[in-house]
Amino acid sequence: MRVNAYAAPAAGEPLAPTTIERRAVGPNDVLIEIEFAGICHSDIHTVNGDWGPQPFPVVPGHEIVGRVTEVGSGVSRHAVGDRVGVGCMVGSCGECTNCRNGDEQYCVKGMIGTYAATDRDGTSTQGGYSTHVVVDADYVLSVPDGIDPAAAAPLLCAGITTYAPLRKWQAGPGTKVAVVGLGGLGHMAVKIAHALGAEVTVLSQSLKKQEDGLRLGADDYFATSDPDTFEALAGRFDLIVNTVSAKIDLDAYLGLLAVDGTLVNVGAPAEPLDVNVFSLIGGRRSFAGSMIGGIALTQEMLDFCAEHHIGAEVEVIRADQVNEAYERVLASDVRYRFVIDASTLS
Ligand SMILES: [Zn+2]
Ligand SMILES: [Zn+2]
Repeated sequence: MRVNAYAAPAAGEPLAPTTIERRAVGPNDVLIEIEFAGICHSDIHTVNGDWGPQPFPVVPGHEIVGRVTEVGSGVSRHAVGDRVGVGCMVGSCGECTNCRNGDEQYCVKGMIGTYAATDRDGTSTQGGYSTHVVVDADYVLSVPDGIDPAAAAPLLCAGITTYAPLRKWQAGPGTKVAVVGLGGLGHMAVKIAHALGAEVTVLSQSLKKQEDGLRLGADDYFATSDPDTFEALAGRFDLIVNTVSAKIDLDAYLGLLAVDGTLVNVGAPAEPLDVNVFSLIGGRRSFAGSMIGGIALTQEMLDFCAEHHIGAEVEVIRADQVNEAYERVLASDVRYRFVIDASTLS
């Protein structure tokens, strides 16, 4: 099946319209007519070659929502007409300890990424900036009614990336959570932590987005450019979720944790971070990382978001605006996620 898509032809080159081949629907596959695809910062890193050589042309997009238009003979969990989603992975071995524990993203053989990865048949996977995609049904999520489909798309990456650590480290009533950075990931972390019942504080470089932060569910908002912030909040938080993909002064942030507190990184800075071990041992603190979430947890997150009426704050664009959107993401000029209307690819 030949379908329309937007692809980066080579590293650092603008995306352009093209057509790509989607495989025939196999017994355990689902064909999805894509409605919306979110633009994640990872898409930009990948097509710019920041994360190493890629199998160009690359069709990015791992925040996909659409309708099922065909299912394979062995598929029972999805039916034609269902609204579904696809996130950052479309496959894993299914047999290793991590896969069996529902942590497919940590598959010992490596998860199969939704784009720029090698699929089981040896071809390169191509992502959601496209009209259709064929995906193994086990990696397709149900998008409940009650979430706007455009606002649901970013949940498939930004949503699960922040939901997973908030659940793992038990954010909830009586816990104090700080979110570092109020961007695509950060704004989801604020909404979800608030819905989980935690007391939420945003730590942002400036107070520019304070009004937004409080509207999205934060109880407090502090500027990290103000040194007084680190004095005022010392020892306060049970959990800090750092969504920033740049170097931060880790010791300063660890100082904001209560005894037994955890600072978990979901942002992925390219350079190593320094840590003074005294920042950890002087309070039995932990520094941790977390990457997206397994399929079952992603479904739990979507159900949770539907129940709590949570979606991403999105700006819907046409496919031919994607390069402009990339520029704006790089300039932090988006509140808070661009989503491509896939009908503009037809
Ligand atoms: Zn992403
Ligand atoms: Zn595995």
